[in-house]
Amino acid sequence: SDHLIDYPRTPAVMDWGSLYPAFFNNPKDKTKQVEFADLGCGYGGLLVALSPMFPDTLILGMELRVKVSDFVIDKIKNLRSEHPDQYQNIACIRSNVMKYFPCYFKKAQLSKMFFLYPDPHFKRNKHRWRVINRGTLAEYAYALKEGGIVYTITDIPMLHSWIDSHFTEHPLFQKLTEEELKADPVVEKIYASTEEGQKVSRTNGLKLMACYRRVPDPFK
Ligand code: SAM
Repeated sequence: SDHLIDYPRTPAVMDWGSLYPAFFNNPKDKTKQVEFADLGCGYGGLLVALSPMFPDTLILGMELRVKVSDFVIDKIKNLRSEHPDQYQNIACIRSNVMKYFPCYFKKAQLSKMFFLYPDPHFKRNKHRWRVINRGTLAEYAYALKEGGIVYTITDIPMLHSWIDSHFTEHPLFQKLTEEELKADPVVEKIYASTEEGQKVSRTNGLKLMACYRRVPDPFK
């Protein structure tokens, strides 16, 4: 369970070179940073879809279930050996986003964050366990740079409105308009690339998407 999760005590001590060796040829090179984070990445379909679109951007998937994260780690290893010049920019780690997110990312490090079909928890007393709540939003705002975007999608209307009300109430986030969504090439991948999204398509489920931009602090 959770106590077996290995996590860095601070972002500064995280060993990123072992996850993205092609970007850390020189052991002293610590400048490259993860910029996209897929939180609860499941089987990793989004990572694989984004990899060729952003070949110079380091993309990280975080996944709680050890069997699932192992599957993604293996999949990336195989992709790298089949295509030696590709898929060097994606990696997956097993971790609990709700507990350890701040241990991995520095202030304003990320430009994109993804919450695709996050697990719902309906019971009232479980609200605080949702990966999107008042406390975690503050952590996400801290790690996102100004102009950075959070992408969310779910098939559950109640969770969609929960997500939307939390982001809308938060002063550091602004909802993207329909026009902005249309102009963003990543949006199509949100709908089509993940395993959960494909499952929802097969059962003709809803795909409720909402994206939010990190805006400057209005009180500063
Ligand atoms: N995003 C993927 C997709 O669209 O296919 C997976 C969606 S699946 C419904 C939700 C995933 O989030 C599961 O794989 C689950 O193990 C993971 N998860 C739930 N809580 C988590 C947490 N606190 N930290 C990391 N992953 C978590």
